[in-house]
Amino acid sequence: MNRCIPVAVMDRLRLVVGLCVCALLWTSVPVDIAGATERSDVKRVLLLHSFGREFRPWSEHARSIKATLERLSPWPLDIQEHALLTARFNNPGPEAPFVDYLNSLYHGRPPDIVLSIGAPAARFVQKYREELFPETPMILTVVEQRLVNRVDLTDNDTVISVRNNFLAAFKNVLQVMPETQTIAVVIGASALEKFWLEELKRELKPLENRVALVYYADLPFTEILKRASALPPHTVLFWGLMSVDAAGVSHEGDLALRSLHAVANAPIFSYQEAFFDPETVGGPMHSIAETSEQTVNAAIRILGGEKPGNIKVEPIEFSAPKFDWRQMRRWGINQSNLPPGSEVLFREPDVWEQYRWPILLIAAVILIQAGLISGLLHERRRRRLAEVESRQRLAELAHVNRYSAAGELTTSIAHELSQPLGSILTNTETADLLLKGTSPDLAEVREILADIRRDDQRASEVIRRLRSVLKKTPFEVRDIDLNNTVREAIGLVEAVTDRRGIALRFAAASGDLYVKGDPVQLQQVILNLIINAMDAISDADDKEREVNISTARLNAHAEIKISDTGPGIVVADIRCIFNPFFTTKAQGLGMGLAIARTIVEAHRGEISAANQVSGGALFVIKIPLALAQSSTA
Ligand code: ADP
Repeated sequence: MNRCIPVAVMDRLRLVVGLCVCALLWTSVPVDIAGATERSDVKRVLLLHSFGREFRPWSEHARSIKATLERLSPWPLDIQEHALLTARFNNPGPEAPFVDYLNSLYHGRPPDIVLSIGAPAARFVQKYREELFPETPMILTVVEQRLVNRVDLTDNDTVISVRNNFLAAFKNVLQVMPETQTIAVVIGASALEKFWLEELKRELKPLENRVALVYYADLPFTEILKRASALPPHTVLFWGLMSVDAAGVSHEGDLALRSLHAVANAPIFSYQEAFFDPETVGGPMHSIAETSEQTVNAAIRILGGEKPGNIKVEPIEFSAPKFDWRQMRRWGINQSNLPPGSEVLFREPDVWEQYRWPILLIAAVILIQAGLISGLLHERRRRRLAEVESRQRLAELAHVNRYSAAGELTTSIAHELSQPLGSILTNTETADLLLKGTSPDLAEVREILADIRRDDQRASEVIRRLRSVLKKTPFEVRDIDLNNTVREAIGLVEAVTDRRGIALRFAAASGDLYVKGDPVQLQQVILNLIINAMDAISDADDKEREVNISTARLNAHAEIKISDTGPGIVVADIRCIFNPFFTTKAQGLGMGLAIARTIVEAHRGEISAANQVSGGALFVIKIPLALAQSSTA
């Protein structure tokens, strides 16, 4: 005893501990009672597998039955599973130890229901019912109706059987793949498999003339794999069962089917949905959902108190055919060959289904873009046509304008022509006189003839120039030397300037000055500007009378300057002199500068007007140099 604690305190401590223990006992009693009540509600289910827990198709049926039962049962469940592994061997050992084991587990506390999966498990529970579960209701499920032991059935049993319709399954193969010539059946050599081999042969008799049936029942599985990997064309494999092969080797779970699928060079068919994904092609098969639904339905009724013997279920047939789209694609199976009402599963969405929205979006963008492009092309074509038309109009207008300019030059042209013509006449008369003489000086006559020829050439030149400026030509662009163009234009007006006492000076840029242009139209521009300059100077009296023309190369442009010593342009008019019909002259038309600007702009150039500080107007034209020139400039 701890001497540090007084006796009174110790008494109080004892009291508190005592109260706590009482409280604990008090609260634990109802919990235990509640637990006992719950447990009395629990239904104990014994699930007995035939070939082990992972042996298809039974494993798939068992899994589905268990899951459906857990989902639909109104009671809490205690499901215990056992596997009758002995069914997997050719010479099963004694069953007694397994019976003892089950007896030790369930003696005195039998399950509420026994569910046997597959024929071997059904046979086992029927054989040992008295010893193991004499009063327990039983459901013998997933048993082929031919294997049901009806003799030993009691009132306490319900049978959920299936019917293997091999003929229908094989006919399906021939319908789906009509070119099939051989069907190789994969089946083992256990007692059960031997039974099914005989049944298959008997049932498939009607097909013997239609297709060659080969049975691999007497081959070791390794040999079956070898053959399956090198089958001739138009051969199909049919998967029966492989628990023990002809060499006595027993096979684990569904490994055998997976190995066959891995090596086979032909499609594999079967009659069990459990083999469907991903190894077999499909067809009419036993539906896992249907057998488990029927089994669970019966189980719930029995657990609810119904007599098992009263529950009668017809053997379950194959369900509606199902096919694996991936297998169909692999083996080239046409959808039109499938029996009516078939369901195609695992269909991979095609590109359209997978990328519908991006495709639609891209198509919309392309359409919009195509629309825009065609709109722009149309617009461009319209502009081109308009440009062509406007050029044509310009050419016509320019032509008219040239006529009016030529009109102004008529006097000077006449003068220019009369000079050589007059000389020709005088020279001809002189030559005539000389020849009439007794001893004509032939050397002189020859000189006179040379003069006549020169004067004739001068006259022809005047006429050529006039004709060239007056000819009606469409706008036609070529490489031209601007210096030459200016010189030609000057040639046309020289006589006029001489007569009016105006000095016409031309300072040409050194070398060629090539631009892309129409020589007649550019000549017309220069002619117009010179005539305007002359007109301006005529008005001014006592000043220097000069028209200066120069050409120059400026970066990528050719430049023409035309200045005069006239009074210049009225400052307020500078803005409008390029407008059509603007004139300050009594007889003026006001079209010269408007046409000049249109022509220059058609050459991608520009024209400007200003007054010089020293007096007089200055017109500047800039035209892009031809490509070859601009790159060397
Ligand atoms: P028009 O010669 O029939 O008048 P233009 O279009 O050739 O038509 O000229 C328009 C106007 O620009 C002229 O009337 C004149 O007032 C002015 N102009 C043109 N060149 C000169 C110049 N060198 N000096 C002064 N004014 C000019």
